[in-house]
Amino acid sequence: MAADLRDQLARACQALAQRGWGTSTSGNASVRIGQDIYLTATGMPLAEVTRRNLAHTKLDGRTVGSTRPTKEALVHLAIYANCPEAAAVLHVHPAHAVAASALLGRRAARYVPPMTPQFVMRAGRVSLVPYFPPGDLALAAAIRKCPADRAILLQNHGALAFAASPSQALGILEELEENCKVWLLSGGRGFLTASQERLLLGRSM
Ligand SMILES: [Zn+2]
Repeated sequence: MAADLRDQLARACQALAQRGWGTSTSGNASVRIGQDIYLTATGMPLAEVTRRNLAHTKLDGRTVGSTRPTKEALVHLAIYANCPEAAAVLHVHPAHAVAASALLGRRAARYVPPMTPQFVMRAGRVSLVPYFPPGDLALAAAIRKCPADRAILLQNHGALAFAASPSQALGILEELEENCKVWLLSGGRGFLTASQERLLLGRSM
């Protein structure tokens, strides 16, 4: 089982890179196996991630071994602390999600406006966290205050998705990026009403 999740993580990282969401060495990912967290290493391009070059920490952040984890490890640890069911966290900076986060942040929005049923059913209600520099302790603290849902948008930064497996988290990221693209194309109008959203929340695809 332990081997499976790390192999699945490597495959999800390749998929993220193929979508162009891991520009340069940006983007990072992790899985949790019991009290152990396996994260992409600092400076590691997503396309080159394998189960053998992952960094290893404990749930409390102590590093095991000599491979240094991503500089955004605190964000991953905050998600695992906040969401006990999460066994995989993916974090990337897709263009539409970042553009939407910047506009929504200016409007002081707390949630991503839902544009389609498939977004609500796959990603649920997605919180927007105000801007903090990557790796900042305050960013991890803000994430810990979010509802334990399935995804979070970070203002002027990127998207986080978390689930029981890397492939589920990847599906959530895809719906979040698509929803942000549609929201931008629609000029920020035409989103589902609160009652339409409520009818869809709790349903899954
Ligand atoms: Zn980031």
